[in-house]
Amino acid sequence: LRTLVLVLGDQLDLDASAFDDFDSGQDAVWMAEVAQESRHVWSGQPRIALFLSAMRHFAQALRSAERTLHYTALDAADNAGSLDAQLTVDLQRLRPQRLVMTAPGDWRVLQLIKSVAAAQEVPLEIREDRHFFATVRDFAAHARQRKSLRMEFFYREQRKRHGVLMNEVDGEPQPIGGQWNFDSDNREAFGPQGPGFVPARTRFEPDDVTRDVIELVQTRFADHPGRLESFAWPVTREQAIQALDQFIQDRLPMFGRYQDAMWPGEPWLYHAHLSAALNLKLLNPREVVAAAEAAYHRGHAPLPSVEGFIRQILGWREYVRGIYWTQMPGYAERNALNAEHDLPAWYWTGDTDFACLRDALAQTLDHGYAHHIQRLMVTGLYALMLGVQPQQVHAWYLAVYVDAVEWVELPNTLGMSQYADGGVMGSKPYIATGKYIQRMSPHCRDCRYDPSQRTGDRACPFTTLYWDFLMRHESLLARNPRMALQVKNLARLTPADKQAVTERAAAIRHGEVGHA
Ligand code: FAD
Ligand code: SF4
Repeated sequence: LRTLVLVLGDQLDLDASAFDDFDSGQDAVWMAEVAQESRHVWSGQPRIALFLSAMRHFAQALRSAERTLHYTALDAADNAGSLDAQLTVDLQRLRPQRLVMTAPGDWRVLQLIKSVAAAQEVPLEIREDRHFFATVRDFAAHARQRKSLRMEFFYREQRKRHGVLMNEVDGEPQPIGGQWNFDSDNREAFGPQGPGFVPARTRFEPDDVTRDVIELVQTRFADHPGRLESFAWPVTREQAIQALDQFIQDRLPMFGRYQDAMWPGEPWLYHAHLSAALNLKLLNPREVVAAAEAAYHRGHAPLPSVEGFIRQILGWREYVRGIYWTQMPGYAERNALNAEHDLPAWYWTGDTDFACLRDALAQTLDHGYAHHIQRLMVTGLYALMLGVQPQQVHAWYLAVYVDAVEWVELPNTLGMSQYADGGVMGSKPYIATGKYIQRMSPHCRDCRYDPSQRTGDRACPFTTLYWDFLMRHESLLARNPRMALQVKNLARLTPADKQAVTERAAAIRHGEVGHA
């Protein structure tokens, strides 16, 4: 055997760089399902099922492409249980002259594979991951030019470099529509009548392969959180393309307008639900961006929606990857606000009487999905203001979402949502009272708490914890010009008000509030 090409569960792309010189006559592919990747990195049932099903379908695609495959299934009798143990056994058995792989997404996995290859004395070639628009080196070069990083500047560079939503005015590249960002036109809430008709989620009914996987996960990982009854994610490239087409057709036109809105029992709304397909590499971000741009040019979707959507992929997704790879491994340990509280146990069950959190948690456990504002401004916001240790928050987000892989989850959680990196990802902590949730959803109507009350039995926990957060971090926040106004409002509170906030916050932290 000349080359063994290693393919991980989030590298399901027949055109990946690892296959560039693949020769079926002398090379083979290696894939393994190992329980440790679902246990050590504690993982919810929807996420495990998605990874296993997509891997098994990719194995079929490899076989159809006549690429020799050494595949170890989770339930194989000789499964070694972990990535490093399985690879070691297989290297000793197959004795390839070299290993080739596309750069893994996770720092930990890269170290693991490097150390197995070194121990077995097999040369390992790691190739650039062409999936992304920017390489990590591109990002590092961008970062070196700046005192502090901001997504917006990186995004503008990407737009120019890749000619996305650009035209020329007097020989100069200009953003189409004359602005880089149309957020002021986006981000509406639904009116009191609700969203009305919402296009149905693109469902892919489980085939035999997925049904087997679901049964396996329900048996082997019965103690893991989440439910599989509604599993309908795309698990093949063909399905992912179909999901993309349907998003562009049905939801993209309204994406921007309702990007931040929430409605009880409506998990899908106008979002793309494409993050998992992208992160497993079933979809390429270039085809997603091109499809959205084409929809604008043919008059199907308005510019604010298309620009807002493209910014998430060409901007945020690439930016967080750059942050991850330029900041790891120290990044995962950061805790700039010295937050030490435990994550409430009900994050794993949804068993709380906070209506907004109950709704976000229920759909998270049912589907492995919540949209960005639910993650940032409901589950994330609550954990931030409660003062939960960021590594526990990180472990939760990595477990429960089907799209969770560390390179994208960690900067979003630790950086954007918990401000544990002290401002690398974002310029300030995202904090808000319950009034933000009241503005963006009708949750507060059906909640026994009141977002306008800061203290007392009916005080909304978000509102109490907002003031408590400002008080606890006053000196740090006062130094941040973007927080100055919020900190100044603290002066309106009397010492007795402050005392009452502290007491109510302590009751929330002690679990005296919030049980269903
Ligand atoms: P849409 O809202 O329709 O957006 C379109 C696409 O843009 C997404 O599919 C995704 O690929 C990309 N995107 C949007 N926002 C971001 C972002 N902030 N960072 C990177 N890509 C983005 N996204 C993940 O893919 N995996 C994660 O593990 C993950 N964890 C998160 C944790 C927290 C605390 C927060 C606040 C956000 C996290 N996100 C993560 C980002 C974002 O919430 C999801 O990408 C999005 O909700 C996925 O749903 P969608 O495909 O319907 O996205
Ligand atoms: Fe959430 Fe507070 Fe509104 Fe209840 S009152 S739904 S806890 S924001």
